[in-house]
Amino acid sequence: MSSDKPADAAPPTEAPKQRFAPKLLIVAGASATLLLAVAGGAAVWLWPKQDHAVETKSARLAARRAAAAASAAAAAQPAMAAPVAAVVSAASAAGAAGSEPPVAAALAAPADAAPPEQPPTPAVVAEAPLDRLQRRLGEVLGPRGAVDPARAGELRVLARSSSVAPVRHTDTLSPISRPPEAGSLAAPAAAPVRRGPWSYSGFTGPQAWGKLKPEYSLCAKGQRQSPIDIREGIGLDLESVRFEYQPSSFAVIDTGHTVQVNVAPGNAIEVNGRRWTLQQFHFHRPSEERIDGRQFEMDVHLVHRDAEGRMAVVAVLLERGAAQPLLQTVWNHLPLEKNEENAARVQIDPIQLLPTDRRYYTYMGSLTTPPCSEGVLWLVMQQPVPVSAQQIDIFSRLYPMNARPIQQAAGRMIKQSN
Ligand SMILES: [Zn+2]
Repeated sequence: MSSDKPADAAPPTEAPKQRFAPKLLIVAGASATLLLAVAGGAAVWLWPKQDHAVETKSARLAARRAAAAASAAAAAQPAMAAPVAAVVSAASAAGAAGSEPPVAAALAAPADAAPPEQPPTPAVVAEAPLDRLQRRLGEVLGPRGAVDPARAGELRVLARSSSVAPVRHTDTLSPISRPPEAGSLAAPAAAPVRRGPWSYSGFTGPQAWGKLKPEYSLCAKGQRQSPIDIREGIGLDLESVRFEYQPSSFAVIDTGHTVQVNVAPGNAIEVNGRRWTLQQFHFHRPSEERIDGRQFEMDVHLVHRDAEGRMAVVAVLLERGAAQPLLQTVWNHLPLEKNEENAARVQIDPIQLLPTDRRYYTYMGSLTTPPCSEGVLWLVMQQPVPVSAQQIDIFSRLYPMNARPIQQAAGRMIKQSN
């Protein structure tokens, strides 16, 4: 059903003219209330699409009454027995109502309405009452007042107020990659990047994450959360991680929670017989991981995803020392504005972020940011990589503290390369 069609795109109706005769409506009911009721009933037939349903309890009631009235009218007038006839009469009723939007008809469309027995004629698709209502709402209230298709079944009218920030929980989206570790796993590609309501301190800090949204509940209740203090790992001859990194285009984004580098496709790791592609990497200060209780100046998380959406994060601890060339290239491309990608015209090779010694710790954990999804394979490099004090200071000016507190290891198996 093409309810998006503009009014001027509608071809002339092929329905018999007598179906437009107002007298049919008089038969159906003499009062204006009944006209609206018929319109409402018609909307039930015409626009059962849930995306556009704007529903209230009383509107559902009105819809049922309207449907009953329309049926009664149809029964009383054999020429109008088909739903289409009622639809057409409703359209003329709506037209007769003049410039007033058929609010009652729009509100009367229940989400569980039965689909029409036959497709509606093009004439009545000119502009659906629901579309018109939605358009009017959009004009009056701005885009946030319009009906969000994802929230069908709710009537949301928000006042224009700068104090009410749009709530979105996606950190990081880019044309290059859909980095999930620092944000939502299921973010739509076209959604704007906005800062989420969670933070690293105060009322929206880590202790509150699990209560901020139902989908964040794992942050509070999860039993396999990250980061952890890595100690008493079982030393084994672990298969080495195969890094297939190469010089790549990249873009830097300040997500409001970290500095993140979205990396062009073409980088991957192989471990445990599985292949994971690099999505993005980002930084924390101080390090989220601890080794035998020791915390480092910073860390970098290289976030990978396999074909089934499972995640593997390579963590590299950063300690004070010599300057790190790749880090400098990234800092050189810091964007001036938050949530705006700054695409670089040079390339980086992520392999430069890794220590020369590739032995690692590994355990199963979670994202360290909401929604704290579990089932994440962690590969924590044992050898830290040096970065200069100046490089640390640059990050500190943006994010002096963006590390989640240590979570309980809770008896989880930790392995480490001998
Ligand atoms: Zn991270």
